[in-house]
Amino acid sequence: MADAEAGPRPYILAGVMGWPVMHSLSPRLHGHWFARYDVRGAYVPLEIRPERLESALRALPALGFRGCNLTIPHKMMAVDLLDDVDETARRSGSANCVTVGADGRLVGTSTDGFGFLESLRAALPGWSAAAGPAVLLGAGGAARAIAVALLDAGASEIRLSNRTRARAEDLAGSIGGPVRAHDWAARGDLLDGAALVVNATSQGMAGQPPLDVDLGPLPASALVADIVYTPRDTPLLRAAQARGNRVVDGLGMLLHQARPCWQVWIGLDPEVTPELEAELISSP
Ligand code: NAP
Repeated sequence: MADAEAGPRPYILAGVMGWPVMHSLSPRLHGHWFARYDVRGAYVPLEIRPERLESALRALPALGFRGCNLTIPHKMMAVDLLDDVDETARRSGSANCVTVGADGRLVGTSTDGFGFLESLRAALPGWSAAAGPAVLLGAGGAARAIAVALLDAGASEIRLSNRTRARAEDLAGSIGGPVRAHDWAARGDLLDGAALVVNATSQGMAGQPPLDVDLGPLPASALVADIVYTPRDTPLLRAAQARGNRVVDGLGMLLHQARPCWQVWIGLDPEVTPELEAELISSP
């Protein structure tokens, strides 16, 4: 029974806005933590058409939501719709986590880059962004957040290659620092001397062709990360593993990006455990 003086425990409401959204693993992920930490509440999928994003966001305070996550295609658009975005969201050009303030203001942040770095640190304790050049393939929303996070974590050189070179140049120009854009045709050569390679394109996802890159020039000591998580063992990771490289799949990024959202919404840093991973990959 609730303590009479403290009143009933609060009911926490949060969710994820996307279009489509029913495939999202986030409700299962957050539901696991609600049960594990005995927090009263619900985390719901919210299927929101892009043209209704603003009115959906504006409804959150009246509906009593603590906040929400944003997924495809809303992350970039939201930056211009929220009352405020922090420095990480501004530099990443996207917001995946919205918090409803006590005054009803909507504040956005980007936790994708944090999630990516934490997934590497969890898989390889002692991993450092300063270990050597990083090759980042892709220049979409996820690549942008990862580039900002790698820079902030001390990367000394980021070699950026994207199918549409202009997008890579735009990304390199807007975040500054030791980030250089290269031709897509040069992606194999860029691997020479690299300490980290990241696939931040959609290639290798179920239904998409594998990422087409020749790993020949890549040192055996390099770490290969793929942020695609359906499937977890992408053709890129299988090829890297077969030649002796260490690999990190994309599920960890998805799990760890959710932790800072809980910190601001609920005041807890939830744990990413093998049980949670197993529950998510057994999702129907
Ligand atoms: P996005 O903004 O749409 O960017 C897609 C990227 O893929 C662009 O760089 C695009 O290049 C590239 N691309 C698409 N088709 C290609 C092809 N045929 N050959 C080479 N490159 C191609 O998407 P995003 O949000 O950045 O997401 C990218 C991937 O990361 C998706 O698979 C997504 O599911 C995954 N992701 C995972 C997490 C996680 O938590 N693990 C989080 C976010 C995203 P162009 O610029 O030339 O079109």
